[in-house]
Amino acid sequence: MASKVKVKVGKGDAVVYWMRMQDMRIHDNRALSQASEYARLHSLSLIVLFILSPQDYIAHDRSARRIDFTLRNLMQIKNSLAKLDIPLHVITHSPRKTLPERVTTTLSDWNASRLFANVEHEVDELRRDLRVYELAQRTGKAECTFVNGKCILPPGTVLTKDGRGYTVYSPFLRSWIPHLTDTPDPLACAPDVESNDATVRQHPIFGQLFNSAIPEYMEGYELSKEDAEIMCVCWPAGEAAAQEILLRFLHTKARPAQFGAADPLSPGASEPKSGPKDSRLGKYGDARDRVDADTTSRLSPYLAAGVISARECVRATRALSEGKHSKVDVSRDTGVGRWVQELAWRDFYTHVLALFPRVSMGRPFQEKFANVSWETNESHLQAWKDGRTGVPIVDAGMRQMNKMGWMHNRLRMVTAMYLVKDLMIDWRLGEKYFMETLIDGDLASNNGGWQWSASTGVDPVPYFRIFNPYLQSKKADPSGDYIRYFVPELAKVFGDEIHNPPPRCAEKLGYPTPLVKHDEARQRAIKRYKNPGDV
Ligand code: FAD
Repeated sequence: MASKVKVKVGKGDAVVYWMRMQDMRIHDNRALSQASEYARLHSLSLIVLFILSPQDYIAHDRSARRIDFTLRNLMQIKNSLAKLDIPLHVITHSPRKTLPERVTTTLSDWNASRLFANVEHEVDELRRDLRVYELAQRTGKAECTFVNGKCILPPGTVLTKDGRGYTVYSPFLRSWIPHLTDTPDPLACAPDVESNDATVRQHPIFGQLFNSAIPEYMEGYELSKEDAEIMCVCWPAGEAAAQEILLRFLHTKARPAQFGAADPLSPGASEPKSGPKDSRLGKYGDARDRVDADTTSRLSPYLAAGVISARECVRATRALSEGKHSKVDVSRDTGVGRWVQELAWRDFYTHVLALFPRVSMGRPFQEKFANVSWETNESHLQAWKDGRTGVPIVDAGMRQMNKMGWMHNRLRMVTAMYLVKDLMIDWRLGEKYFMETLIDGDLASNNGGWQWSASTGVDPVPYFRIFNPYLQSKKADPSGDYIRYFVPELAKVFGDEIHNPPPRCAEKLGYPTPLVKHDEARQRAIKRYKNPGDV
């Protein structure tokens, strides 16, 4: 989409920044920063608009947790903006089809001459923005500027020699890294947002917007009291919380995780500082695949909602790169290097979504696997969702996600592959359930992860390389502590048996026996992938 409309519009009274559920921050927010700069230069009032769109949430299988997180962050943002004399106006709009008209009418009501927003790369969202752009152009009243804010490097900037999007991660990464040291610096922080003139509070229309209410919950997306409490403890809202979690990852040691509501993830939890080599980040290269300690950053809910920018995360690692302050250390064998590479996966999948949008429309990227025969076993699907497959590591992962709205990356791969290759259930059903349950649900990363596991995506695991969940379990949770916590039926099982309890022992403990035999299921999957269409 072009970034500027070439229509002459009047000065108007206001500039609008349209915040969406993927850029919920004030700091280092490019569209907001540009809106603020424009308002300052032209002596206009800056207004922030947020539209809750229930039909979009249904269409994208948004989880109630993600919606709740959105509302909690909005509360924080409203307070922070109010300190800058900037009103945040929140509206709820249905049906989604008429949302562009609602936006342009709102611009008219406020006599706004400019609209700024960060691009959302999902197809429906791009169509919506295009319509807003066209409507604004047609009325000639407002110019629209859409800015790339989600990724470290915007889609379309990292291309193969013949100008195509990469479909394999390693060459993408090799091409992505040199961009980080470009001039102008793509990691540069967006300038701070400036206050409105305080008289905006006396303005007959804009002054009222300071009273705009943020709903406590959205109909159909209410959390139970217990779930709401767990979400608040594990995932506190706001930019300050995200910063604390980043600092905790950079400067403190990983320790055996305590899961669930008791997990002291909250930013207040004081932990002694550690040296750069011992910190979670320092150890990330070796320790990141362990699920029995909190070795990873757990920033994904904040990155998915844009409460912290991915650029900010990379910038924070720069200062730690042994004196090379201007460079980002992305070499493979350091913690910093590995972590930045994970952030590059996020860019990679967003670029794939933007450049090959069919992946988000229920299509496998590799069309040759479009006709793989899937089982339609409802009870197996339900057992997988409930964490009752009889494979402890799969069940522990699923129960952690059901409880916390988050799961470790290794277990997302293990549980996804188990559904697709062991139970032979369509990956799209798993993709949907993850989106409905995760607090960090992100269409690009979730689809990328699912299509990787199902061997149907860009750069996927080959279809015949099927994880053995029992071996994965021994590597990821050698002591079995993680399993024992999330699968309390097995709390008294120790040694190797925790990974694959003998049937008699499982039965006695009220734990299910495995739904399928892994070796047989593996053979079935290989056969079906080799000959799509065969049953
Ligand atoms: P860290 O290890 O600290 O990594 C830092 C950040 O890098 C993450 O927060 C995330 O933004 C990004 N990142 C790390 N690994 C990946 C990856 N493989 N793909 C894309 N980005 C990555 N991530 C989501 O944010 N939302 C999802 O809906 C999502 N669904 C997934 C589904 C499947 C089947 C799989 C295999 C992976 C999925 N991921 C998803 C990616 C990854 O599992 C999570 O980002 C990660 O577990 C988050 O934990 P963290 O913040 O501690 O990550």
